[in-house]
Amino acid sequence: MAVSGNFLAGFYITTSIPYVNAAPHIGHALEFAQADVIARYRKLVGYEVNLVTGADENSLKNVKAAEAAGISVEELCSRNALLFRELADRIGLSYTAFVRSSVSEAHRKGVGELWRRCAENGDIYKKRYKGLYCVGCEAFYTEGELVEGKCPEHKTKPDVVEEDNYFFRLSKYQESLERMISKDQFRIMPESRKNEILSFIRAGLEDFSVSRSAGRAHGWGIPVPGDPSQTIYVWFDALAVYITGVGFVGDEEHFMKTWPADVHVVGKGIIRFHSVYWPAMLLSAGIGIPKALFVHGYFTVNGEKMSKSIGNVVSPLNMMNKYGSDSLRYYFIRDSPNFEDSNFSEGALVNRHNKELLGDLGNLVNRVLTIAEKDGKSEFSGNAEMSKKLDMAEFRFRLDNGHLHEALELAMAFVRECNAYVNSKEPWKLKGPELDSVLYNLLESLRVISIIVYPFVPQSAEKIAGMLGSEIKSIEDCKFRGSFSGRITKGPHLFEKIG
Ligand SMILES: [Zn+2]
Repeated sequence: MAVSGNFLAGFYITTSIPYVNAAPHIGHALEFAQADVIARYRKLVGYEVNLVTGADENSLKNVKAAEAAGISVEELCSRNALLFRELADRIGLSYTAFVRSSVSEAHRKGVGELWRRCAENGDIYKKRYKGLYCVGCEAFYTEGELVEGKCPEHKTKPDVVEEDNYFFRLSKYQESLERMISKDQFRIMPESRKNEILSFIRAGLEDFSVSRSAGRAHGWGIPVPGDPSQTIYVWFDALAVYITGVGFVGDEEHFMKTWPADVHVVGKGIIRFHSVYWPAMLLSAGIGIPKALFVHGYFTVNGEKMSKSIGNVVSPLNMMNKYGSDSLRYYFIRDSPNFEDSNFSEGALVNRHNKELLGDLGNLVNRVLTIAEKDGKSEFSGNAEMSKKLDMAEFRFRLDNGHLHEALELAMAFVRECNAYVNSKEPWKLKGPELDSVLYNLLESLRVISIIVYPFVPQSAEKIAGMLGSEIKSIEDCKFRGSFSGRITKGPHLFEKIG
């Protein structure tokens, strides 16, 4: 190839930055899994991937949770941020930065700088404000946005709050935002969410409050530059993690190389902040806007909304203690249509594990390697008839467009094809060139499978590659080669039966 060198295009993805007022639930784990599938796939494609996650700590919610627990807010944040970090590590989220917004000095500086730039551009002004405020959302609502007088997200009555606040001139960006979103310069996935946001923008954007009194913030948070009587509103602060996590103020070179983000992965409850407020703040500060927003749905648990009062909050750490991270990741992607709400059921997780991971994937690996090991050779060749059973262009198209669930379906369909091939060829009855050709097809298929399932179940994929003596490096390696050669060492079963 004529073109060579070390140039790697960058790909920057983020999870949302969760509040750490409580321990993580499976909704957070779903988002981590989705973001990581995209990140690992992009690595296979050849991108240098940055993934930023973290903890949104400068919020009033954390102050209230700490008060209720009788501990300091610093302690509450440390304790819970640690749990989020443990979740990220154990689910295999391949993050390059985990930003704790209350302790990162770089973040605090970056937020101040973002504020100053918006203010210099004339987009921040002070006014007396009286509004309906939901502490849960940390947001003001208009009467019209409430459902029966209550917050649509929390179903609680908002407080009436009156004070001096700084406001951000969102109204000024209405036309730019509408144009960028409708033309997919800032692409909102899925289309239904894009339309929802476009109609919100077209109904008219109102300036929004970006500070609160230091008193109402209980002295917690980042002070407004030049006005310590006011604290920067938590959304303005938390959203900035996406830029401060890649060097905004402090590491300009890294920032210039990484920003704008290719995709922010977020839940449907915070879409307005991400698709309207955030790009407007960036436009005001003269910073490029992100390229895409991937909006996932929420989990219900056994058909009911997850809530502490119902007592049905599922801990993803407990689930991984019981079933391991690959099974949880697999279940999430397999049973959650990307952008829709889905129902979490431990029984369904166990079924997917037993039937598909163990029954289809684990079994295939075990059958093929048993025969190959018995055969004893290390090189196999033949007619690559199985290569026609996998449509790699379609697989990549699905992942390129955020259709993780459909891409996994295609990978697993290929696994089933391979099992059907074993059944129809009955290699245990074959010898000579015939056996050689069947094993060539199956071993090459397994090698390809280790690559295509890698974004979804990375630990199992690495084990498969290890048994084949192959490596998982590039999506380009998913073409069948003229022969299979490798040091085959059949290891223990990939999955144990549950129940
Ligand atoms: Zn609310």
